[in-house]
Amino acid sequence: MNQNKRIYLASPHMSEEGYEKQYIEEAFETNFIAPLGINVNEFENELSALVGVKSAAALSSGTAAIHMALKAAGIGEGDIVFCSDLTFSASVNPVRYLNAVPVFIDADIDTWNMSPMHLEKAFDKYRQLGKQVKAVVIVHLYGLTADMDRIKTLCDKSGAVLIEDAAESLGTLYKDSYTGSIGDYGIYSFNGNKIITTSGGGMVVSDQEERIHKIKFWSSQSRDPARHYQHSELGYNYRMSNIVAGIGRGQLKVLGRRIEKKKYIFEFYKKAFWDHEDIHMMPVNDWNRPNYWLSCISLKGRLSPLEVIVALEEDEIESRPIWKPMHLQPFFAEYDYIGDGISEEIYRCGVCLPSDTKLTEEDLYRIVRIIKDL
Ligand SMILES: *Cc1c(COP(=O)(O)O)cnc(C)c1O
Repeated sequence: MNQNKRIYLASPHMSEEGYEKQYIEEAFETNFIAPLGINVNEFENELSALVGVKSAAALSSGTAAIHMALKAAGIGEGDIVFCSDLTFSASVNPVRYLNAVPVFIDADIDTWNMSPMHLEKAFDKYRQLGKQVKAVVIVHLYGLTADMDRIKTLCDKSGAVLIEDAAESLGTLYKDSYTGSIGDYGIYSFNGNKIITTSGGGMVVSDQEERIHKIKFWSSQSRDPARHYQHSELGYNYRMSNIVAGIGRGQLKVLGRRIEKKKYIFEFYKKAFWDHEDIHMMPVNDWNRPNYWLSCISLKGRLSPLEVIVALEEDEIESRPIWKPMHLQPFFAEYDYIGDGISEEIYRCGVCLPSDTKLTEEDLYRIVRIIKDL
């Protein structure tokens, strides 16, 4: 009966209790549809309390959040910003919005995230060139984490601002800290396929309350505190609406439940493929408690990611390749890349398997069967 039911990679999953609707209802009743309102303030407070930071600004997207974090860090024209090479383009585009210069740092095979070794090499190279590195944007891919102690030490030593792109890793712990709370700034995304969604939205968090205050100012058109419309700085229209924030508050209540299900999905695949030496699960380190946003595998034998993706697609099952590294993107081809081709190797062997929190055990057996039959 389930045959050919469409299976998604990761789709929106509202709370079973209908919390999101309750918060939206309240906003309707008080006519706080927009702008801002209680849901926005409370969504910021609730998320900051959860991850353990002093302040947060709810924005229209994760991309806007990265843009504002970079601006708050003082990034401008010509500044060097080190970025993860293996990531989604949205973590790098904002560097270009500010006319700054991205430099791509290779991934590590043991973490799938930025390699501390190559980061160190990059700092050395730019020191020798006499160029200051203003910031590092580090990604925590697929709910895993980078080796943050080593990366933070390197950033501190060089005086670079550390921005964590935790768009994919809300709820992930690195040792005892939530991703996004470790660097100077952290950002989250609530896009439709993320672990929780507001239909679209983002958040910047930081312990520097004054900087978050400034981000809120820029994000609401940089209106000076005057009755007449006066502007002393460039403005943006990036704030989250009170309706959208209501969805976020409801979703935050079920984050723990979603992580549990994502973990169950990961463990299911791990068990199913443990005796297949050609299929490796993405690396979960012991200092890492992931949110398991997507369950990814690496194929070591003759089977290619494309064969897996196409075979699943033929049965109405959605899967995806790993992000194509930034230094291989036509748009970013002119920028420097420091590495050994590890991100490329992960990309060439990797597949993101369906990780939808609505998946049933039956669905999982169906997915695994197709891959095993190959
Ligand atoms: C989704 C994502 C973003 C962008 O978030 P949006 O809310 O879609 O703008 C940024 N970085 C990474 C790594 C992402 O996965």
